[in-house]
Amino acid sequence: MDLSYSPEEIAFRDEVRAFLDAKLPKEMSDVIRAGGELGKEGHDRWHAILNEQGWLAPNWPKEFGGAEWNAVQRHIFEEECAAAYAPRIVPFGLSMLAPVLQKFGSKEQQDHYLPRILSGEDWWCQGYSEPGAGSDLASLKTKAVRDGDHYIVNGQKTWTTLGQYANWIFCLVRTDPEAKQQEGISFLLIDMNTPGIEVRPIILLDGTHEVNEVWFTDVKVPVENLVGEENKGWTYAKYLLTHERTNIAGVGFSQAGLNAVKRMAKAEKHKGKPLIENPHFAARVAQVEIDLMAMSTTNLRIISKAAVGQAPGVEASMLKVKGTIIRQEINDLARRAAGPYAMPFASEAVEGDNMPVGPDYAGPVAAQYFNNRKLSIFGGSNEIQRGIIAKTMLAGG
Ligand SMILES: Cc1cc2nc3c(=O)[nH]c(=O)nc-3n(C[C@H](O)[C@H](O)[C@H](O)COP(=O)(O)OP(=O)(O)OC[C@H]3O[C@@H](n4cnc5c(N)ncnc54)[C@H](O)[C@@H]3O)c2cc1C
Repeated sequence: MDLSYSPEEIAFRDEVRAFLDAKLPKEMSDVIRAGGELGKEGHDRWHAILNEQGWLAPNWPKEFGGAEWNAVQRHIFEEECAAAYAPRIVPFGLSMLAPVLQKFGSKEQQDHYLPRILSGEDWWCQGYSEPGAGSDLASLKTKAVRDGDHYIVNGQKTWTTLGQYANWIFCLVRTDPEAKQQEGISFLLIDMNTPGIEVRPIILLDGTHEVNEVWFTDVKVPVENLVGEENKGWTYAKYLLTHERTNIAGVGFSQAGLNAVKRMAKAEKHKGKPLIENPHFAARVAQVEIDLMAMSTTNLRIISKAAVGQAPGVEASMLKVKGTIIRQEINDLARRAAGPYAMPFASEAVEGDNMPVGPDYAGPVAAQYFNNRKLSIFGGSNEIQRGIIAKTMLAGG
């Protein structure tokens, strides 16, 4: 396999670089470089810039307004965005719900929702997990009872990422309590402004607000908001999850993180020598670099399959497991490189009038390390993914 880029691909990369140079606001990349998070306004702004360029939906077919890039173009774009410290696009509408609507939604749903995802008019969040239904998602209890031309929804979702910004939520709900677990679930689109919905923040240990609980009390949802057929939601839910898992791999972000680790390890000294020359540290960097190269190739293979309409299957689980292990290892190497300077609480190190404690790059290292513990849990925990891989591949089906 020839892993070098063709002249067309190099020209495409240059075009992406020129775009990022001209259009990525510096104040935005500064926040990302410092390990910070954008609020809704920042996300909306970057979303609009990409949409104006026609590059917001690389994976969508052209007929729906996507860029329909091939696997290599998408890989190049992701790499360049990460290297330039561009914000990561919030995936819920664009790369989770949209593929489901494109494959299983009605024409009316496609015409209504897809343009609103592109324009940023709708901000979607994901209502899958519940207390008691995370890994064991099919145990979910939120119920929707048909009442004329509406469903009446009652229940609770949890860990709803960025739900505080969302005006729509896609939900798995139980529509047939008598059926076998997986067969009684439906996929509903719910307007967050409907009476009876309450979003309660879950404040994390570092004081940030990233996840929420969403409560439903007698929420009326029109039946036309059902995606596909009633009680067939499990099929659509699984299709969405394979897309979620591929996205979590984050090859470009790992590449940018690894480059940062190398820069840090050249600047930091260990026993009078640059840390990068320490054999133990260097071996870990080399190992993660090899793993990342191997995963990039797997990622390209899987994106190519998705590009010709095949849903990524068990390979998405492989990518999810490997991608998150690599990202967490890179976070760990950065924490080790920063040493004691990683200890001060990030806001003291990088905000306000406080002088940074130690080098600038050390400020966000601990916060990233702790926050990214989540990577191996969400989108289906890595233990569960290993179970899927074993069942589907090793046991032959
Ligand atoms: C930061 C964050 C953001 C999230 N965002 C969203 C969101 O936006 N929308 C949404 O719907 N959900 C979201 N989730 C939920 C996420 O998908 C679940 O946390 C995840 O599926 C795991 O479920 P659980 O937390 O209930 O853990 P549990 O299922 O209780 O698992 C606990 C532990 O037991 C292990 N385990 C459980 N069963 C098995 C088994 N059969 N074999 C081996 N090990 C097992 C698990 O791997 C895990 O290590 C988010 C979670 C986090 C942490």
